[in-house]
Amino acid sequence: MNIILLGPPGAGKGTQAQRIQDSHHMIQLSTGDMLRAAVEAGTEVGLKAKAFMESGGLVPDEVVIGIISERIDQPDCKDGFILDGFPRTSAQAEALDKMLEEKSLKLNAVIEMKVEDEVLADRVAGRYSCAKCGAGYHDTFLQPKVDGVCDSCGSTEFKRRADDNRETVISRLEAYHAQTAPLLPYYEGKGVLRSIDGMASIDEVTKQINHVLSAL
Ligand code: ADP
Ligand code: AMP
Repeated sequence: MNIILLGPPGAGKGTQAQRIQDSHHMIQLSTGDMLRAAVEAGTEVGLKAKAFMESGGLVPDEVVIGIISERIDQPDCKDGFILDGFPRTSAQAEALDKMLEEKSLKLNAVIEMKVEDEVLADRVAGRYSCAKCGAGYHDTFLQPKVDGVCDSCGSTEFKRRADDNRETVISRLEAYHAQTAPLLPYYEGKGVLRSIDGMASIDEVTKQINHVLSAL
């Protein structure tokens, strides 16, 4: 099964993708994570992407399309993948259609996570993750069971994203409304769009997604 999680920055895509990955043996493909790794490693892709990411704008289509196309070819994607943060523009959506067709793969569903803009800045500003295994947390909404210790791997080191500040969130939200939201009618027209209430608690959102997945 191959799905897309679609929603604004802070909607909960990464949080839910980690859960689906664990429960459904599908691989999370986050273009944001891949780009951050490239920036950190100082690769050619990272050098191209860095300034766009810092400003809260989108990285050029050809860069992210290339990354995803290569990643989907890896053997660990054969049982299914969860696209988290891709596609984000019409050009990316069309390129994805083309590459899936060429690779004889199917897109089973696009799950829209509906969240009101007002709550997103608080979600993003409080976000952090385990520096070792990447498990996601939030200062208020999702704290580790033992203070300062990662639930998943026991590490005591955490990190925050450079772009998770209130100024950049505004640009990222603008980019979402202008360039990504038009993908909703695109996928609705293809009959694959399923919408869920992303304003609910994290566990409740997981239940809604599981419900959608079980009906596919
Ligand atoms: P995205 O990947 O869509 O940008 P994340 O999954 O990283 O969003 O979530 C952003 C932050 O909000 C994280 O710190 C996460 O713990 C928290 N979060 C995710 N889903 C919810 C929710 N339903 N309610 C409250 N906080 C949430
Ligand atoms: P994310 O981790 O999904 O919040 O993405 C962080 C940043 O990476 C975004 O603000 C963009 O600059 C860049 N990015 C991630 N995915 C894409 C994409 N599909 N297209 C363009 N830019 C992207």
